[in-house]
Amino acid sequence: MSLVVAQHQLPRRVDMTLRLLNTYTKKLQKFVPLKRNTVRMYACGPTVWDYAHIGNFRTYVLQDVLRRYLKYKGFKVIQVTNITDVDDRTIRQSKEAGLALREYTKKYEEAYLADLETLNIERAEHYPRATEHIDEMVALVRKLIRRDFAYEAEGSVYFDISKFKTYGRLSGARIGELKVGARIDSDRYSKDEARDFVLWKGWRPDDGEVFWETAIGKGRPGWHLECSAMSMKYLGVPFDIHTGGEDLIFPHHENEIAQSEAATGKRFVKFWLHFGMLLVNDRKMAKSSGNFFTLRDLLSKGHDRIAIRYLLLSAHYRAQLNFTEDALADAERAVKTLRGTYRRVSDIKGISRRGNAQLREALTKERKAFEKAMDDDLNTPRALAALHRGARAVNRAIDQGEMSARDASVARRFFSDLDRVFGILGGETKSEELPEEAARLIKERDQARARRDWATADNMRKQLLAMGISVEDTPSGTTWRRTTV
Ligand SMILES: [Zn+2]
Repeated sequence: MSLVVAQHQLPRRVDMTLRLLNTYTKKLQKFVPLKRNTVRMYACGPTVWDYAHIGNFRTYVLQDVLRRYLKYKGFKVIQVTNITDVDDRTIRQSKEAGLALREYTKKYEEAYLADLETLNIERAEHYPRATEHIDEMVALVRKLIRRDFAYEAEGSVYFDISKFKTYGRLSGARIGELKVGARIDSDRYSKDEARDFVLWKGWRPDDGEVFWETAIGKGRPGWHLECSAMSMKYLGVPFDIHTGGEDLIFPHHENEIAQSEAATGKRFVKFWLHFGMLLVNDRKMAKSSGNFFTLRDLLSKGHDRIAIRYLLLSAHYRAQLNFTEDALADAERAVKTLRGTYRRVSDIKGISRRGNAQLREALTKERKAFEKAMDDDLNTPRALAALHRGARAVNRAIDQGEMSARDASVARRFFSDLDRVFGILGGETKSEELPEEAARLIKERDQARARRDWATADNMRKQLLAMGISVEDTPSGTTWRRTTV
């Protein structure tokens, strides 16, 4: 017997201390990956019809914190985040702009990826586009028709929710009152409108050039179908975790479960995690209320990108978060203090010869408090409090001149380890690569300057600033840096 085989058969030690509140069971449950040490996770992504708003970014930052904490615990993570690049809104907006669908969505897809980097959000392993997975979606619809869960009507295909006995289990939607055969065509509707939903939308003149000729007819996929097809393609079934904003519980996630489980006869997802809403100035964000912000809006007002990240992750993920100027100012101060302490201890090679056992003990205690808080359903406010207490202990030790070289290195490790999850101190977790969109803008700006078109160049400088990037013109060319506190 070879040693390799023997090692392979050894049981792996799997960390079993994380508990998460599963929206599907409504219970706090111990999290263990389905397959060995790898977590397979699907996080609903953007519909690329416009810039994402700050509420969307709360979801993306929290998904990132979950991902980073799973990695902190030693799990390998395979994350899939879809790009919805065909739906009612993308089609409507692209027509208004007079652009082909792909031409239109490309801009917002690039902006989305650039904004992720601005907020120090790690890249997922896969970003599948809906328009590139039509074959998988058609195969899924055909399977549902074969298994008698779907039917054709007026050129479209619908899911028959009366056939799926556990329909409504995730969201609590009731279908008792349902009139048999009542259908709904739009992608978004409320719980009391639960009825047979559209899987495949037959072509209508409104769709213009946007259609696919397929075995189930000429048309395009429904939004819910996209996520089922792409998650199962990249992750198989069942997979470990599916996340999204709580506004997606119904109908989107309810319908994802129905489609996927009816087609495979298997459980779709083990853990469902939902993130709470973001309010701005105590109110639901709306363009009409004047409290609607994109990330770029906030950056162009001079707010720090990392303070925005800090604020977005500072409340518990299931709670509502009220986003205000005051809260942002507090976040800016908190980030500044933490960074200042981290910088301070990074410059220290040791002030005293004698070790400070009290400091080391305090940091061990705070690290444990951090892990305990995160293990308890990702309690980020408590975990951040541990980081702040650790920072105060470090400042005190430096002020009192009681820090040896070894203490300083223990303190640096405390900060850098916890920051693998928070991503707010900069440095090792931050990618310094320029996003594609910013690189293009810098190039176009150089060209504008070359033809002495100062207005365009200045406009582009402002656009870059809104992405958290400041440019400087030097004799040897344009340089850039990330704007920080
Ligand atoms: Zn989705």
